[in-house]
Amino acid sequence: MRASHYLLATVKETPSDAETTSHQLMVRAGLIRKLATGLYTWLPMGLRVLRKVTDVVRDEMDKAGALEVSMPVVQPAELWLETGRWQAMGPELLRFTDRHERDFCLGPTHEEVITDLVRNEINSYRQLPINLYQIQTKFRDERRPRFGVMRAREFTMKDAYSFHMDQASLDATYALMHSTYSAIFTRLGLDFRPVAADTGAIGGSASHEFHVLAESGEDEIVFSSDSDYAANMEMATGTLPALTQDAEKKSASEVDTGDAHSIDALCERLSVSPQRCVKTLVVRACDAEGEMTDDLIALLLRGDQTLNEVKAQKLARVASPLVFASDEQIEAVFGCKPGTIGPVSRPPTAETAGIYTYADLSVTELINFVCGANKDSLHRIDVNWDAETRFDEAVDIRCVQEGDLSPDGKGTLAIKRGIEVGHIFQLGDKYSAALKATALDEGGKSVTMTMGCYGIGVTRVVASCIEQNHDQHGIIWPENIAPFRLVIVQVDAHKSELVRDTSEALYQLALDSGIEVLLDDRDKKTSPGVKFAESELIGIPHRLVVSPRSLADGVIEYKRRGEPEKELLAPDEASSFVTRLAATAP
Ligand code: ATP
Ligand code: MG
Repeated sequence: MRASHYLLATVKETPSDAETTSHQLMVRAGLIRKLATGLYTWLPMGLRVLRKVTDVVRDEMDKAGALEVSMPVVQPAELWLETGRWQAMGPELLRFTDRHERDFCLGPTHEEVITDLVRNEINSYRQLPINLYQIQTKFRDERRPRFGVMRAREFTMKDAYSFHMDQASLDATYALMHSTYSAIFTRLGLDFRPVAADTGAIGGSASHEFHVLAESGEDEIVFSSDSDYAANMEMATGTLPALTQDAEKKSASEVDTGDAHSIDALCERLSVSPQRCVKTLVVRACDAEGEMTDDLIALLLRGDQTLNEVKAQKLARVASPLVFASDEQIEAVFGCKPGTIGPVSRPPTAETAGIYTYADLSVTELINFVCGANKDSLHRIDVNWDAETRFDEAVDIRCVQEGDLSPDGKGTLAIKRGIEVGHIFQLGDKYSAALKATALDEGGKSVTMTMGCYGIGVTRVVASCIEQNHDQHGIIWPENIAPFRLVIVQVDAHKSELVRDTSEALYQLALDSGIEVLLDDRDKKTSPGVKFAESELIGIPHRLVVSPRSLADGVIEYKRRGEPEKELLAPDEASSFVTRLAATAP
């Protein structure tokens, strides 16, 4: 490719709306352009990278025996009504009507469509298991599209769906997808971690997210220093390091704490550490069907710990999603302002009888602790669990912290930020039951199929790769997904026939050897400095510079992107370098 005929859409200024390095560099290097919020055009340079990432994903999926399909982006409402997600999905699902007033949506995911396909095409155990995938556009009307293609509204996903007669078969494909994802992200040169994830509202039994480690990541992931234990923050459990406590239990008393309502203020006032305080949070309850009621639920946590809302909303009696009680509701039930409530029971009244109390494991062993007295301006000190100060159930509802002990007893927990690039999920029969996707087993009995689903954010992978591979000059592509492997820069070609001939010969050699090469043959209006800077910004791994001055010294300058030193090669060495490069195809 000749730069003079290419769309090198580099820009000098960092776009003002680009907060992350990858977003800035993708715009500056001319990979993408914004059309509207969360909508991006992939320019020729960016599309080359996206294609290569796609190729790696497709290659590994094919190797794993998955079959590629292509489903429509536009999906009829009927299918979504059948699974109940037409109502359940909320505003992320972009809905519209056609000229016949029929309802449609833009596919944010394809469980409905694939299950409809499979219920029509497959009817026997002999056709199972099957794993179908596509690499295709998704649309999600994200609440906060940001970071460029990292959280876009329109993006490319590889989504796969597997169908099985039984759990054992699903387990086998799930394990195969787990190793396939590891192979994909390894080939893409990413520093990543698979972590156990919450199965959330979809239900199902197992789920793993694949995270690329990066400071700019939106998620927190937790892993052990000494074992394979890894989970996302929502799922992670840990054991608190032992606390040094009083040997003797004292008897409780009330103290005036004035306007000290926060844990910090309270600790300062009483000169105690937050580890010795119990804080009480109040949320709304739900009934046996999961519907929110007017009842309140108390959640107890140690003062230095934070509530894990995902864990809390999974509790049987707690409304999901979590809703905190208002100050008025708390005051009506506890008889005091929120800052001094505590797990201290009072004679039951019509209102208080219903306060069910979950205690996090961080508080159940505390001795001589501090908590609210359920009276304005008063706390209790030297409190111990007894008939008066009590909870109903001990549970794990806290976010783990750096330094907690790993739940498998091996090592301590560290927390890092991650970007979720992939997600694998055992769906069970959620969609197959709703859409009646059944197959006959060996005995001729009709069985509802069991499903798994497996996603990779292909466009997000490109951005994640840049987050991990860049320096102050620009992108440093891993060789197998770089838009071009080699750039040959002409310097002052208008003054030197030798520069033209030498660079053209190298260019021809590279082309003939099958190397993806860019010849920077732009005329004198583009200075050599700009050419160098742009090749670094775009991140092309290998660069040869052909200039009159170096040719006069009998050399061609070579530079590997990301390495500080330049090398000087004789022209025949430069040719053999090109031949060698071709032999080491990434
Ligand atoms: P997130 O928590 O980041 O919103 P998700 O749980 O909604 O992700 P899935 O439904 O599991 O994501 O989608 C599969 C993959 O698609 C994700 O792992 C991610 O890599 C990618 N993805 C999801 N939403 C977006 C988006 N708005 N822009 C780009 N990629 C996305
Ligand atoms: Mg999402």
